[in-house]
Amino acid sequence: MNKALVCGAGGFIGSHLVKKLKNDGYWVRGVDLKYPEFSESAADEFLVLDLREQGNCEQAVLAPGEEPFDEVYQLAADMGGMGFIHSAECEIMRNSCLINVHMTHASAKSGTKRYFFSSSACVYRDMEPDEPELSEEEAYPAFPDNEYGWEKLYSERIAMAYGRRYGMVVRLARFQNTYGPEGTWQGGREKAPAALSRKIAEAEEGGVIEIWGDGSAMRAYTFIDDLLDGIIRLMHSDLEDGVNIGRQEYVSVNELVQTIAGVAGKTIHIKHIEGPVGVKARNFTADRIAAIGWSSKFSLRDGISQTYPWVKSQVEQTRRSE
Ligand code: NAD
Repeated sequence: MNKALVCGAGGFIGSHLVKKLKNDGYWVRGVDLKYPEFSESAADEFLVLDLREQGNCEQAVLAPGEEPFDEVYQLAADMGGMGFIHSAECEIMRNSCLINVHMTHASAKSGTKRYFFSSSACVYRDMEPDEPELSEEEAYPAFPDNEYGWEKLYSERIAMAYGRRYGMVVRLARFQNTYGPEGTWQGGREKAPAALSRKIAEAEEGGVIEIWGDGSAMRAYTFIDDLLDGIIRLMHSDLEDGVNIGRQEYVSVNELVQTIAGVAGKTIHIKHIEGPVGVKARNFTADRIAAIGWSSKFSLRDGISQTYPWVKSQVEQTRRSE
């Protein structure tokens, strides 16, 4: 039986990835600072460890019997939506960097066979909405719009360097904005689809919600099941260097609001306020991941149809307990 380690297994993508690997027949260890918030972890073993510490990384990467893991998935990060990314630059640069420096080193030294790193579309520069799609190599010359992107780019490079020195197979995915049930939906770290779903669930019919900026920023959103399919395919492929994973359905933030409102069955009006918006557009090719058989199965509307009811149930549960 193949053994996999999932770092960040208490988080949104990590907890879903653990479920998928279990369904695929793996023995799985999850590691995180915390247990998953919304359902019990499906992992065979779950260690609560701070992966900024080298010793904890060394403990995490040795499977039972002191054996190396067949596969390590590194998703742990100090992470959040645009509000968090712009207010916690030092935490992101320090914490995520420490995690990646120590995890890559510990994994390579322990003899890990395959190492997956979750990078981000934030490694790319700002774009104009009508620019042609960027390919992976256009991450260089590097000019990410925020420190989160710079940290990801640096950590991609650490992983590649250790891969070269130690013969560890390294796979680097650059995730597009990903959403789905059981993602952070309140507290300041939530991303746009969850934050807007919460606001719309809280609003009355015909109500007004506030959004940061003028709502024209263009984005694409990937449903969690599509992303997991991409992660597993990429990990078992021979694709080296950064690989984009994301659905190419581009919408403005205003259109995202209207999609969620449509699923909610509500008329919603938008009030634009000052706030961190991020890049004007994100527009990148999925040719490399498509070449290994990946394609997105969930339209934005389909994905929101699974996500909004979950966020709404969280909002209602919170109201009942207040
Ligand atoms: P998340 O915040 O839900 O999960 C990250 C997990 O890492 C959290 O559970 C957190 O507790 C854990 N963690 C943080 N510091 C830690 C530490 N010191 N030791 C151990 N665990 C620690 O985020 P997510 O959305 O599941 O993202 C997973 C990965 O994918 C991250 O690396 C993120 O940067 C990347 N990513 C996500 C998206 C997205 O849209 N969700 C987009 C691009 C890239």
